[in-house]
Amino acid sequence: MLRLVGIASPEKRVHDYPFQMSGGMRQRVMVAMALSCQPKLLIADEPTTALDVTIQAQILRLILETREKVGSAIMLITHDLGVVAEVCERVVVMYSGKVLEVAYVNDLFNHPAHPYTQGLLQAIPRLDDTRDRLSIIPGSIPNPANLPEGCRFHPRCQYAEERCQTEQPPLVSPKPSQWVSCWRVVGEKGVDSDVIAATAVKAPLNV
Ligand code: SF4
Repeated sequence: MLRLVGIASPEKRVHDYPFQMSGGMRQRVMVAMALSCQPKLLIADEPTTALDVTIQAQILRLILETREKVGSAIMLITHDLGVVAEVCERVVVMYSGKVLEVAYVNDLFNHPAHPYTQGLLQAIPRLDDTRDRLSIIPGSIPNPANLPEGCRFHPRCQYAEERCQTEQPPLVSPKPSQWVSCWRVVGEKGVDSDVIAATAVKAPLNV
């Protein structure tokens, strides 16, 4: 497995202590350990956090290559949208423990439907950006011990209306393969209450 993840001289390195390896090598060893049982599903929680961009790219490439070799599915948990764009096929956007949007990666980046997803994407700096200041999402995430009623994003949402403060929006599908939890989307698409109930029951990952 050490050879598979690109560790040079694995016969010698297998006897090394962690402090004798670089950060990138330790991450590779961690990936090798995780894949050694050939899991059907690998859950990688922030696998590239605290790595410099060069090592980060190596680890991501390694995970993708190993996925092909071992045949595992990968659930990647990250706050880095650049990593999401590079690696993921399907994306679940979560906020304070709630699923806000589910979409294929191209749909999510090209047509984000939830105000939180839109805010995250607008906050990314771009080379062709002509703005003087980057966009931000005002406010901060709520205290988990004191979550807001209704839509958990409503204290920070520029589109919040009255029922957002009291009723939690269901996860509905405004178009095939995209799921959104937002009253505004429900209103725009004119989804009636029967359709909401039906789609909310069938919705994937409706936690
Ligand atoms: S449900 Fe309301 S508060 Fe929540 S994201 Fe949609 S518009 Fe904003």
